[in-house]
Amino acid sequence: MTVHFPFQNSYSALPDSFFARVAPTPVAAPRLIKLNRPLALQLGLDPDLLETPEGAEILAGKTVPPGADPIAMAYAGHQFGNFVPQLGDGRAILLGEVIDRGGLRRDIQLKGSGPTPFSRRGDGRAALGPVLREYIVSEAMFALGIPTTRSLAAVVTGEQVFRETALPGAVLTRVASSHIRVGTFQFFAVRRDTEAVRRLADHVIFRHYPELLNAERPYHGLLGAVVARQAELVARWLLVGFIHGVMNTDNSSISGETIDYGPCAFMDAYNPSQVFSSIDEMGRYAYANQPRIALWNLTRLAECLLPLFGDEQEKAVAEAQDILGAFSETFSAAYQTGLRKKVGLFTTRDGDDALIQDLLDAMAKNQADFTLTFRSLGDAAGDAAADDARAQFMDPAAFDEWARRWRERTALEPQSGAERQAAMHAVNPIFIPRNHRVEAVIQAAVNDDDYAPFEELVKVLANPFEDQPEYAAFADPPLPDQRVLQTFCGT
Ligand code: AMP
Ligand code: MG
Repeated sequence: MTVHFPFQNSYSALPDSFFARVAPTPVAAPRLIKLNRPLALQLGLDPDLLETPEGAEILAGKTVPPGADPIAMAYAGHQFGNFVPQLGDGRAILLGEVIDRGGLRRDIQLKGSGPTPFSRRGDGRAALGPVLREYIVSEAMFALGIPTTRSLAAVVTGEQVFRETALPGAVLTRVASSHIRVGTFQFFAVRRDTEAVRRLADHVIFRHYPELLNAERPYHGLLGAVVARQAELVARWLLVGFIHGVMNTDNSSISGETIDYGPCAFMDAYNPSQVFSSIDEMGRYAYANQPRIALWNLTRLAECLLPLFGDEQEKAVAEAQDILGAFSETFSAAYQTGLRKKVGLFTTRDGDDALIQDLLDAMAKNQADFTLTFRSLGDAAGDAAADDARAQFMDPAAFDEWARRWRERTALEPQSGAERQAAMHAVNPIFIPRNHRVEAVIQAAVNDDDYAPFEELVKVLANPFEDQPEYAAFADPPLPDQRVLQTFCGT
């Protein structure tokens, strides 16, 4: 039996300038190393058939399934602030869209499936390490409840890719509510193709913001909706210590999903100016800079949409500025609400913001582990001693002083200690994809063809809020010699 993909493609029905039709390049010896079975079911695909050799051939791009309409999408983008008028899918091919069991339209895309007209000097391929990293981190983000693209499968190709050294090649099957980026709008805007910008905006509204279909000013509404989703997304990142690493406009999704897991990382010790990416020399995409960059990217989107706002340019600019102005309020509300929950405050009182900021300041000063500090604060939310929390601080006395104030304040909350603990544990994960764990998993796979550590890590991260005593070590921060200081791009 052949694997049936219930494709219902809409993007490939847009004008020819939106993409290049191109099939994946067949590979030598595809071997499935991971299938996300629950996601396959959610997409209406048969996981058993996907696990057959024929399924692996499809997931490696060796066979194109019936109903697919393979395309590479065109887009532009600001990379580290510099505009590149043509980027596009240089190593990814959209097979098509399916409507999932929840009625949502989802893209099924192969990443690393061979060259396209947008490849420039690249080989169109992906190495195994970055594919595994994207699988692990994107699925961890999903389990954390943060909007993200998903990973359906990883296959090795049986071919080598050449980076600094020869590495095993791999293909990731990425699932997204769409792959439309700020850079997709920029591609048409820079060409002054207002009709294409309008077509794209209409497509985005149909797909992601159908509530705007009958709006009086749909394009204003569209900008406002993307602003809100991005503001909320970045707040969610900060609340789990996530650093995207390459927030270029081409890696900024219109649907509000986290997209493009390259040199991304979760911080261990709390440090607002933390940067991991080896190519981010100026710290443009540092942890605490992410809200500002998201707004910068949204401002680029607004510029693209201006011609759709009306003929009076000054008025259009003022309206766009007004809409962008909502970013900081939406972000702050989401971030502050999230922080309040993290420390177990469910009512509001004067002084709360200062209490929270003082904790963050003390954490930064004392190199406290971001994840474990909040998790162990939850452990201490009842009457238990806060030993684990204070152990995160180089100077535990700095925590003691803060904890006294925190206990006084939480005593004014209506919940019992046990209720507070449950509520805090529901928002403060114990397991995040720690860099040193991700690195170890990649080394085992690449060097020893051993996928057991990968499977284990994926399994633990699927339930990040649950204490899993048998996997307690996965919660530990790195030892000094395990610390990952830099991450590298996913190419
Ligand atoms: P990224 O850094 O993954 O966001 O990619 C930026 C741009 O470079 C996109 O247009 C990619 O399609 C392209 N690109 C990255 N890696 C490769 C590769 N190995 N071959 C061809 N194009 C690539
Ligand atoms: Mg990208």
